[in-house]
Amino acid sequence: MGHQLAGKVAVVTGASRGIGRAIALELARRGARVVVNYHRNAEAAAAVVAQIEADGGQALAVQADVSDFEQAQVLIQAALDAYERIDILVNNAGTTRDQALMMMKEDEWDTVIQVNLKSLFNTCKAAARKMVRQRYGRIVNISSVAGIAGQFGQTNYAASKAGVIGFSKSLAKELGARGITVNVVAPGFVPTDLTADLPDDLRAAAMEHTPLKRMGEPEEIAYAVAFLASDEASFITGAVLPVDGGIVMSG
Ligand code: NAP
Repeated sequence: MGHQLAGKVAVVTGASRGIGRAIALELARRGARVVVNYHRNAEAAAAVVAQIEADGGQALAVQADVSDFEQAQVLIQAALDAYERIDILVNNAGTTRDQALMMMKEDEWDTVIQVNLKSLFNTCKAAARKMVRQRYGRIVNISSVAGIAGQFGQTNYAASKAGVIGFSKSLAKELGARGITVNVVAPGFVPTDLTADLPDDLRAAAMEHTPLKRMGEPEEIAYAVAFLASDEASFITGAVLPVDGGIVMSG
């Protein structure tokens, strides 16, 4: 397991906390060198790098707001400057601004679409150029069950996450002939800072509708991402993998 991704270089956006942190640690555990992107939380990103290095791996923290086109180019360039290639790109950075549509402000719509969806345009455009030259690449984009089933108070978030799926399937068709796969992981409820403010009634309803009757762990999302990023997933592209305790099939 420790060498499954040996020689590979991975960029994980939003890897300072939560699910992205778990993905960075798991890819490193499997032997990849990892670029740990963060937006504001430099200390947390440095702690992820320190943990990877303490476990014998290689990692680098890079600050960039991936919703900004230029900053996303700088992030990908920083990965290339450090490690000379980019094999795996995980678009994990995400945010919420929950509000019923009638109350939602324009900037709450715009921010969520920019961070969760436009960021994929920004990073994939930069990374795909290198992956095409390498004739190898694994892109894994993080959506959500909300992007498949919708969620009260999340028209902005659900639209961005449904957009992630349409974007990924289209890019999978564009890049397939170049040896690059593009897949989606759609998590269910996972306890992180993002879900910390979830109202108790919504949390209880989610558990009620989850066949496995619990929330997921960040590591359980990371295992699915690591699989799709591996050579063992070489014939999988354009797929949407729910990792959600079964909630999305339960309606
Ligand atoms: P989280 O704990 O809030 O962490 C968000 C991460 O994204 C942080 O590392 C943050 O960096 C980074 N980030 C935010 N905006 C950014 C930007 N503009 N540029 C670069 N990085 C940015 O969130 P999470 O729960 O782990 O969620 C990770 C992904 O999974 C998101 O795409 C989310 O939508 C998705 N997801 C989560 C759940 C869940 O239940 N948690 C369910 C379904 C899908 P800083 O630390 O520097 O702020």
